[in-house]
Parts: sequence; structure tokens; C-alpha cells
Amino acid sequence: MNEKKKIAIIGAGPGGLAAGLLLGHKGFDVHIFEAKAHPGGRCSSFNLGGYKFDVGPTFLIMKYLLEEIFKETERKLEDYVELMPLDPMYRLFFDGAVVNISSDKEKTKQEMEKHFPGHGEGYEQFRIKEKERFERINSILARPNTDPMEILTWGFLKNVPKFALTKSVYDVIGNYAEDERAKLCFTFQAKYLGMSPYECPGAFAIIPYVEHEFGIDHVKGGLAELSNGLAKACTEAGVTFHYSTPVKQVIVENKAIKGVELDGGERFLADETIINADFAAAMNKLVPVGELKKYNPDYLAKQPYSCSVFMMYLGVKKKYDLQFHNVVFAHDYKRNIINIMKGKLTGPDLSFYVRNASLIDETLAPEGKSALYVLVPVPNKFSSINWKEETAKLRKWTIDGMKERLGMDDIEEMIEEEKILTPDDFEEDYHVYQGAVFNLAHDLKHMLWFRPRNKFEELDNCYLVGGGTHPGSGLPTIYQSGKIAADLIAQKYKAQ
Ligand SMILES: Cc1cc2nc3c(=O)[nH]c(=O)nc-3n(C[C@H](O)[C@H](O)[C@H](O)COP(=O)(O)OP(=O)(O)OC[C@H]3O[C@@H](n4cnc5c(N)ncnc54)[C@H](O)[C@@H]3O)c2cc1C
Repeated sequence: MNEKKKIAIIGAGPGGLAAGLLLGHKGFDVHIFEAKAHPGGRCSSFNLGGYKFDVGPTFLIMKYLLEEIFKETERKLEDYVELMPLDPMYRLFFDGAVVNISSDKEKTKQEMEKHFPGHGEGYEQFRIKEKERFERINSILARPNTDPMEILTWGFLKNVPKFALTKSVYDVIGNYAEDERAKLCFTFQAKYLGMSPYECPGAFAIIPYVEHEFGIDHVKGGLAELSNGLAKACTEAGVTFHYSTPVKQVIVENKAIKGVELDGGERFLADETIINADFAAAMNKLVPVGELKKYNPDYLAKQPYSCSVFMMYLGVKKKYDLQFHNVVFAHDYKRNIINIMKGKLTGPDLSFYVRNASLIDETLAPEGKSALYVLVPVPNKFSSINWKEETAKLRKWTIDGMKERLGMDDIEEMIEEEKILTPDDFEEDYHVYQGAVFNLAHDLKHMLWFRPRNKFEELDNCYLVGGGTHPGSGLPTIYQSGKIAADLIAQKYKAQ
């Protein structure tokens, strides 16, 4: 590049940071505009008393994708964060069975056999058959998928059967397990996309597969350290951060983005603009009215979205006999999930997840105490639920669930710090459309070429990264979106 091309990135979330690092390293003049005073977006942290909590992500899968990004910039991920592989990966609480899922495949096979006789073999089959699916699908996910005609190429067509187009994740896993609870051990991961396992496309059986194949990691100090590490690497690579600087709108001329206009009215012109702000929120708020043909507010309001979450961050003055990741399944799990997706609260029979990171990470709570992160899947804001009115009830149901299902009888007396986030907070404070924290749904109509593309098809000089775009929600694919966008821009300017 003879002259440094200017890149404006809206948002310092995982997607924006990954793109920023790669482009900064390639010599672009990168400017990241972030509404908040710190990086990370939903993958950031906050302190409460002596406790530290991750807002969102609590584990990293497919860490090699992030390692590759650091490697590409002649860095090593381990120089920026300390990854802590988890074994057991998680503990699952069903009626009549508490199942430990290990990263040691032999141990998991034995555990399946112990609780669900005959299912050890099903677990072996799952790993063999889903490996093939993963290998076929993974390479397609990593591509930019800018041209829908590619769907007609042999390269894609030969892999169509692996997409299990007519099946849900639940159907696919049904090939390996009969016991309802055994099926749930390998299908609850649809919730990582904020979807129901009964509806989530069968292709996403690759998520439980990658967990079992590559394991999952905690990051010392919390997952937000991934964002802080990326931000540090960005700064070293010459990226300029503009924190506490919300973008008001993008500047559009003749269907091309020319830069960004900040809240204060100042304009920053750029050769290319990358939008990391939540896709649907950005299309609604950042693009001037009338500029979008397809992704206009009416269209977006009619699309399916993920569920939301009700979060409780609890600083408690003791250590509990709890595993690191604990997933509690509602007694009637199917009813619970179906209700959430229909926009209804189920009542006290909730599914919920508790992360007890203080088990292995002493940096998150004062000595002898624990920073508990409690996540309850709930409907997004397309429902008519009044979250202010429901908060006390949901809190009570969750606390009762922790007592009943996890034996934490004294939990209420032990809480010394507490913060709650509802779908309202995710919409207002984290700028997430309708509080649908795992973004646009990952159904067949919103996958691959049909998901908002990393090179935006509606406006020139515009790229999209983040969970609402291709390849999808979840840290590894979000980092991948940053890489795809950075590669496309580098190719355009023939940058090495
Ligand atoms: C509760 C929860 C748990 C999760 N758990 C996991 C997990 O364990 N593992 C996993 O892989 N994934 C997980 N995810 C999903 C996903 O990895 C995270 O949500 C991730 O942070 C999304 O990254 P992003 O880049 O799409 O957007 P965000 O993290 O939302 O970043 C977007 C950024 O843009 C900024 N922004 C928005 N509008 C503007 C504007 N107008 N001007 C300037 N800046 C703006 C925002 O402030 C934000 O910093 C979880 C998500 C949630 C909510």
C-alpha cells in the first residue's frame, strides 16, 4: 500500500477487535470507535465490591482460531492471556442423574455408560460421525460466502447432506442416543446460539462435537481478558481507540459508506467502515432511513432472533461444593424451551446455568469467597413481558432452583454483592436489538449466504463483523468474521 488506507470500526467487541488487530498489523490506519469506556462489548467484565464478573462469555471453544489470528500478527495468544483448559468441562443436572462431562473421552464414555447403559457406544459413534460433518462444514463456514451462486458449485453441493437440512440438532443426536437425558447432554449446546435444540438446524451438531474434540477453556481473570488482550495487541499494532465515543450514524453517499458521524456531530472519513455493533441494532439506528432495501427496520422486525438472558451476578461469602460450569435442566425441559421461544415465562420450573469460576481462578473474588455467574435463558423483547415487573419473581425462582437443584440452601444469606441484567439492559446498555443477545437466529434462512455477509451487500466500502453476521454467534465464529472482513479488505488493497 502506497498510502495508508483509513479504516473506521464501529465497536470494540470481539469481532471489531479481531478485524482491527489484523488490519493494524497489515499497515492500515485503523480507528475503533467504542461507545463504552472499555473494550469487549458483551465480552467485557465489571467489578462489584471485591468481585469481578464477566458480562457474557464464560468459556472459549476452538481456541485455535484465536491462536491463528495472533499468529498471523506474529504474536502468541499465551503472551496476552492465560488459558485454563477445563476438566470436567461441565456438570449436567437432570432429574435422577448428575452427569460429569469430561474432556477425557474415555471418562465421558464411562460416565455415559454409567448413567445411560448402552450409550457409551453411541458416544463413540457421535465422535466418529460428527467429525466428518465438522470437517465438511467448517471449511464452508470459514469462507466469505459473498456470492450466493456458489451454492450451485460442486464444492458446496457435495457437502449438502452434511448440513442435515431437514433435521434439528435434537434429531441428529437421536442417531446416537435414546435416553432423553443422554440426548440433552449433546443438544443443550443449541442454547449457545440462543435457539431450541428442537429447531436448531442439524448442522450445529458440530458444536457439541468441537467441545468434545478440542475441549473448552476458561481464561484466568475471566473471558473479558480475551478482549483486553486483543485490545492490547491492537494498540501495539498501531490501532487507535476512541473510547466513550458513540457513533451516531454512518455517512452514506451514493450507496457507499464514506465514514462515520459521531454523537457530537464530528465526522470521521474512512476508506472502509467495519460495523461491529449488533447487526440489527446498527441497521435500525446507524444507517440513515431509506438507504437499505433489504435490511430495513420492517424486514428486520419480521426475522427470527435468539432468546435473551436474565443474569444474576452474585458475590457470595463462601466457597460452594460446585463444579466450574453447572447446567441445570428444568424438570420439564421441553416445555421450558418451547415457552421461551414462544415468548412466555414458564414459571418456577426453570433451566439455568451457574459458573463457579472461583473454583480454579482466585482472581475473581476475595479469599474464601466466590463470584457466581447465573444465567437463565428467557424470551427476547419481542415478547410482551415487562421485565421490571417480573424481575423479583424471576430472581426468587432462580434462587429457589439453586437451593433445590444444587443444594445451595444458604445462598440468600451468603450474597454480599449482587447485580441483575434483564433483556431491557442488554438492549439499552449493550445496544443489542430486542435484547436478543445471541443475535439473529441461526435457522436455514439465516445461515451462510443468507446471513448478513461480511462484505455488506447493500452498501459499498462497508464490512460486517460480530455475532449477527456470517459465520455466526459465539466467540470463535465472531473472531472468524473479523478475519474474513480483514482478509477481504486486505485483498482489495493488495496488502500483505
Ligand atoms: C450472557 C452471554 C453469554 C455468552 N456466553 C458465551 C460463551 O460462553 N462463549 C462464547 O463463545 N460466546 C458467548 N456469548 C456470545 C458472544 O460471544 C458474545 O456476545 C460476544 O461478545 C459478541 O461479540 P460481538 O463482537 O458480536 O458484539 P459485542 O460484544 O456486542 O460488541 C459490540 C460493540 O459495539 C459497541 N457499539 C454498539 N453500538 C455502537 C455505536 N453506535 N458506537 C460505538 N460503539 C458501539 C458496543 O458497545 C460493543 O462494545 C455470550 C453472550 C452473552 C450475552
